[in-house]
Amino acid sequence: MFSHAMKYAKKLVKWLLFSSLYYSGGFNLIRYVSDRLEKKAVILCYHRVVDGKADYYSAPGTQLESRNFRSQLKLWSKKYKIIPLSELVAILKDGYGFNSSYMVLTFDDGFKDGFTHVFPVLKEFAVSGTFFVSANFIGKNSLFWQNQPRYYLSLTTRDRLKWKGIDFPIVSKNDKLRAECILKEKLGLMGPEKREADLYRIRQSLGINNDALSDKEIMLNHNDIYQMQSSPFVEVGSHSMSHSILSNCPPDQIEFEVKEERKIWDSTASIPVVFFAYPFGIYSESAMASLQSNGYEAAVTLREGFVRKSDDLYQLNRISVFRDDTTLSVMIRKLLRLYLRHIFSNIKSFLIWKFKK
Ligand SMILES: [Zn+2]
Repeated sequence: MFSHAMKYAKKLVKWLLFSSLYYSGGFNLIRYVSDRLEKKAVILCYHRVVDGKADYYSAPGTQLESRNFRSQLKLWSKKYKIIPLSELVAILKDGYGFNSSYMVLTFDDGFKDGFTHVFPVLKEFAVSGTFFVSANFIGKNSLFWQNQPRYYLSLTTRDRLKWKGIDFPIVSKNDKLRAECILKEKLGLMGPEKREADLYRIRQSLGINNDALSDKEIMLNHNDIYQMQSSPFVEVGSHSMSHSILSNCPPDQIEFEVKEERKIWDSTASIPVVFFAYPFGIYSESAMASLQSNGYEAAVTLREGFVRKSDDLYQLNRISVFRDDTTLSVMIRKLLRLYLRHIFSNIKSFLIWKFKK
């Protein structure tokens, strides 16, 4: 009871603080000062948009509620000029810098709700977004490896997980969360083939049927992608073949992840696919080199920050938006913090220059 009251009190204090910063004009003023020093662009990274409670097909944090998404778009379209990623990349290639406050919306992973819940809202607000889809998963109703443990743990009736010498309880919510973290950590270090074999063993240990997902449409299919790409509101980018952590992959695996996906897009997409989102935002020199040699023009990370005119096209920053993020919390806790950091770093550089003279 007391902890509940504390939680609500904290939420209220946060809301009051964020609201006062926003409604007093503090946000606009700080952004104005920061933009006077240098105009920058914002790329937001969303994953999924859902109705109501989070499902078990991906981490809850990746599932933003649709009413929250709509309220964010309402504000973003007033405060920023929302442009497609291709337009931002063209501006960066020109090298003249930004003449407006640009924002780009991106959506990772290619879940079906991109078509059912995101696309209609983009059309309603007449703004565009870029969907990063793993071509290997289109229309396949199978989950990325990192989402499978959570889904299996939600289905199982067993009370222990036995796998690779590990034997731990999976009864309470906390047990299952712990099991999910351990499984994801270990699976992330494996190559795709070994990982598939281990996921099979995990399913067996949990008594889960291999066809557990077969009758549900979870990911985007070719028709969804075709319809979205045919509109002026959607661009599609790559997200690797197996959603592996590229920095853990040897060079030949990276080449496979990039080149094989390139082949699928070249034979299926109605419009060339030239942008890439690193799975988990994690990348390496080899990954960047492979993208360049396979004809990709730019890539986005999950390193939090603005995009500036001198940025490397293969290391573009993004700002992640999660389920718990309200419109005000994105503005104050994420964007405002970055504007302030930008102002302070300019002041610091100025003072260093002044004292050196
Ligand atoms: Zn992803």
